[in-house]
Amino acid sequence: MPESDEKLAHNIAIKSYDIILIGAGPVGLTMAITLAQNGFKIALVEKAPLSFIEQPQHDGRGYALSYGTIMIFKALGLWHFIENIASPIRSIHVQENKTPCYLNFEADQINAAAAMGFLVESHILRDMLWHGYVEQKDNITLITEAEILDFKQDPHQAIIHLNDQILSAPLLIAADGRHSSFKQRLNIQSKTFPYNHHALVTRFKHEKPHNHRAYEYFYPAGPFAILPLMGNESSLVWCDKPEIVTTLKTLNNDDFAAHIYERFSDLGTISCNADRFSYPLSAILSEKLYQGRVVLLGDAAQAIHPVAGQGLNLGMRGLAELAEHIVNARLHGQDWGDSFVLDAYQKKILSTRRKFFILMHGLVKLYDIDFKPLSMIRNIGLGLVNRLPPLKHAMMREAMGAGSKQPKLMRGETLIAK
Ligand SMILES: Cc1cc2nc3c(=O)[nH]c(=O)nc-3n(C[C@H](O)[C@H](O)[C@H](O)COP(=O)(O)OP(=O)(O)OC[C@H]3O[C@@H](n4cnc5c(N)ncnc54)[C@H](O)[C@@H]3O)c2cc1C
Repeated sequence: MPESDEKLAHNIAIKSYDIILIGAGPVGLTMAITLAQNGFKIALVEKAPLSFIEQPQHDGRGYALSYGTIMIFKALGLWHFIENIASPIRSIHVQENKTPCYLNFEADQINAAAAMGFLVESHILRDMLWHGYVEQKDNITLITEAEILDFKQDPHQAIIHLNDQILSAPLLIAADGRHSSFKQRLNIQSKTFPYNHHALVTRFKHEKPHNHRAYEYFYPAGPFAILPLMGNESSLVWCDKPEIVTTLKTLNNDDFAAHIYERFSDLGTISCNADRFSYPLSAILSEKLYQGRVVLLGDAAQAIHPVAGQGLNLGMRGLAELAEHIVNARLHGQDWGDSFVLDAYQKKILSTRRKFFILMHGLVKLYDIDFKPLSMIRNIGLGLVNRLPPLKHAMMREAMGAGSKQPKLMRGETLIAK
């Protein structure tokens, strides 16, 4: 044992938990709440300060929460915190630039729900999760500003050394984001797919009501989406070349509004006064989802292009699968950190994410070729799908996470019958 390890082991008692969770982002925090509600003792380890979780700040992102994600929040008793401020998405209009054909999805075409999903700004979602955490405080030990100095695992447990304490548990869940340091520690390889554009995100006001319609336009430089917030306000995702995004960020409010209006005038005059944020975009897929007693969750497992707002939703689907397997293992007196639990989760999620990735990546790549004949084919394709209700409905149900084979939480059920 190296000298520093020996000193730690001698001077500091090891604290045992049922599960160690790394990362209190939206997926990690929801997972901590889910497992705590089911009686697990959790150590939630976050590198950011407490204020990051307690008073989340606007970061420009509007999350399009799918029906399946909302069912999870309902099953956890969290949805009531934000249901009056989440904006329903009742229809989606998809079009290539200003070409004639388009695809239209309407919530009432599939009578499963009055809305296909809801739009919530990221800081509002994280504020809801803070309330959920407070309710489960007894079962969650939150450690912020944490630095993980060392990590080990043996056949029975995972152990991490922090600055001033050592934690151990039979399972460690790494929900530490797209650049997961745990993935690197475990030497799990990833495939990265860079896109040649960045996303600029903000919100803006408009003259006319949006009637809860979302708009997605495809341009060769990247997708451009307008998503309905409450009142006459919408969230903007403008993907473009990095240098264009930099310029758009520095324009004054009136000039920026004029640029949006040039592309999108359906909702009348536009005014902008919110901060603008930008994100470089890439897809990152880890080649496997667990090693030993460590399992990857959320963006640490897969990060995808936000073109159809599915990254968080996919992370939540993984959460619902993993939580169900963990809770079932304990109910049957089994070891919830064992490979049979993690393998079952891996199998489900790898096949789901394959479908999502092919669709999202394919969409972005299909539209980034600025070539007239190809544009005609794409247009015919959009028009055709629009006239094929069964195909359209199948696509809608899949994106909504409303299929019949969803895990319990995505059907709105609790994990242990009450
Ligand atoms: C512009 C944009 C728009 C998007 N829109 C949508 C949308 O509409 N719908 C949707 O479903 N998804 C959307 N996404 C994707 C969504 O943002 C991500 O999928 C989501 O944030 C992933 O959550 P997470 O908790 O897995 O990871 P993160 O949000 O990245 O959280 C990771 C957490 O781990 C912490 N951490 C990192 N390293 C360590 C460490 N070593 N020790 C301790 N803690 C650590 C971080 O501080 C952070 O709190 C969008 C993404 C972008 C960029």
